[in-house]
Amino acid sequence: MALSVPKIAPFSPIYRLKTLIVSIIIFTTFIFVSCAERGSGGDELYREILRDETVARIKELGKISDAEGYLERTFLSPASMRAAELIQSWMQDAGLKTWVDQMGNVHGRFEAANSTAEALLIGSHLDTVIDAGMYDGSMGVVCAISALKVFKLNGMQGKLQRPVEVIAFSDEEGVRFQTTFLGSSAVAGILSGSALQISDKSGITLQEVLRENSLEATEESLVDAKYEPESIWGYIEVHIEQGPVLESVGYPLGIVKGIAGQTRLKVTVKGSQGHAGTVPMFMRQDPMVASAELIVLLESLCKHPESFLAYDDQCGGFTRESLAGLVCTVGEISCWPSASNLFLLLY
Ligand SMILES: [Zn+2]
Repeated sequence: MALSVPKIAPFSPIYRLKTLIVSIIIFTTFIFVSCAERGSGGDELYREILRDETVARIKELGKISDAEGYLERTFLSPASMRAAELIQSWMQDAGLKTWVDQMGNVHGRFEAANSTAEALLIGSHLDTVIDAGMYDGSMGVVCAISALKVFKLNGMQGKLQRPVEVIAFSDEEGVRFQTTFLGSSAVAGILSGSALQISDKSGITLQEVLRENSLEATEESLVDAKYEPESIWGYIEVHIEQGPVLESVGYPLGIVKGIAGQTRLKVTVKGSQGHAGTVPMFMRQDPMVASAELIVLLESLCKHPESFLAYDDQCGGFTRESLAGLVCTVGEISCWPSASNLFLLLY
C-alpha cells in the first residue's frame, strides 16, 4: 500500500512533548516487561519522574553548551564534561553504580537479582552536532535513567531478571575529530589504537584530549573499554526522529528496522589554472565545473538509482532493493587557489 506523505507541518513544541511522553511510556513498558506487577504509588512516579523530571532534565542538558545562543557539545569539550558529570550524578540518584571508561563514556549499572546474567544495555550519546536539537542523544540517556529510577523507587529492582546498564556515549557525531562513534566503537572493541593519534582542527590529538581530561588511553588500555559480546543480552535506544517522516504522517512513535550506515568520502578534482580572459573555452579545465557535474550526477544517482542499474539489475554489486532509500549529499566544497580572475573580453 502506498503511503501518502502530506506536506510537512512545522514542528510544534507540543507535538514534540507528546512524542517524548509517549516514547518514555512505551520505553518504560518495554524494559519493565519482566515484571508481573507494579508497586504502589506508580501513577505519581510516572507523572513526577517519567514526565516532569525527564522533560526538565532534557531541558537542563539542552542548556549545557560551549556556544552562546545555540547547543554545541563536541567530544570532551568543557560543556561535554559538565554534561557527563551531571548525567553521572543522575545515574547515581537512580541507584546505578557508575564509572567513566577510557574513551569518556559514562556508564551506570543497575544490578538485578541475578548479577551474572547478560546485561541489557540502554544508551545514547551525550555529544551534539553544532546547533543541535536538545532531544538528540539526551533523550535516550535521560529516559533510560528515569525508567530505572522508577524501578528503584517502586522497589522492583529485585524482580529484574538481568542487570541493566545505561551508557552515555562520549562521541557519536564525530564533529571534533571528523570520525564518528569513538565512544561506541571503544565499547564494541573495534576502535583502532591508531585512532588515538588523529588530530582535531587545533592539532591536538585524541590521546592528548583524553589526557587533558584525566583519561589515560593507550593502544593497550583501549581493550578495557570493550564489552564481551557474551556479557550482553541486547541494546536498545530511544532517539528523537532525525528526519521529518513520522511527524509528516502523524505518527508519534516508530520502531526502527535498521540504522543508517554512512561512508564519508573526500574527493579531489584536479583541473588546471587558466587565465579567465585568455584561455578559451575549448581548452579550459575548470575543476569547479567538473565538481558541479559530479554533484549533480550524484544527486541523480540517489534519486533514480534504477536508471544506473546494469543489464543484470545491479549497480556495482548493489541490487535495486538495497539501493532503495539511498541518500547522498555533498556538504562541503572548497577550491584552491580560489581566484576569481574573471572578466569579459569585449571587442
Ligand atoms: Zn543522535
